[in-house]
Amino acid sequence: MGAAWDGRGFVGLIQALNEAMQAAKAELNGLDSALGDGDHGESLAAAFADAAEKAASLSEPSPAAVLQATSQSLLNRMGGASGALYGTLFLRMSLAVKDRPDVALEDWQAALSAGLAGVQARGKASPGDKTMVDALAPAVVAFASATDLGGAFAAAAGAAQDGAAATAAMVAKFGRAKFAGDRAIGHVDAGARSVAILFVTLHEFWEGQYGEG
Ligand code: ADP
Ligand code: MG
Repeated sequence: MGAAWDGRGFVGLIQALNEAMQAAKAELNGLDSALGDGDHGESLAAAFADAAEKAASLSEPSPAAVLQATSQSLLNRMGGASGALYGTLFLRMSLAVKDRPDVALEDWQAALSAGLAGVQARGKASPGDKTMVDALAPAVVAFASATDLGGAFAAAAGAAQDGAAATAAMVAKFGRAKFAGDRAIGHVDAGARSVAILFVTLHEFWEGQYGEG
């Protein structure tokens, strides 16, 4: 069992993400209702349910094919600004892993960096703007500082959680939460929280599949 994920590993990962997003639906809806329209958990759960089904039905599930199918589900089922951003994240990751039969540390690093770049190019948000970028950017930096895949997923999960928690102190510059002004202070951003859940799930899935003991 090597420390690299093949296409089957990615199918399992999308299934794990689906379970995590179903479990987090109420929490994410709650965060989004404080500052937005309350649909973030619902739309992510619907998109990942669709993605898990699509991934499972791929006849040749290469890593790129699974990520590409997931990006389609996010774009089509999530809708809105965040669907385009989440879709871009997975599409850029898919393009970055290209025709690799499995994805090891360097490819994961490149894929996540490309995903972050895509989200920022599309959404224009920087760290500090109280968006998903506040969890994603520190996670990508932390990931790149590690020397093995398990350490990288652990570091990224921790950084994403800290980044999401830190959004409580911020005023939003993008999305519906922008209209809340100072009223946003004290509330964690829904998209930052969902990205933290994504990285925690990645880490847990890695531990379950490939971790030592
Ligand atoms: P919608 O606002 O269309 O209802 P969601 O509720 O699914 O979409 O997602 C809202 C989340 O999207 C926010 O909490 C924020 O993290 C993220 N978001 C919104 N606009 C941007 C942007 N321009 N860049 C990055 N993230 C954004
Ligand atoms: Mg919303």
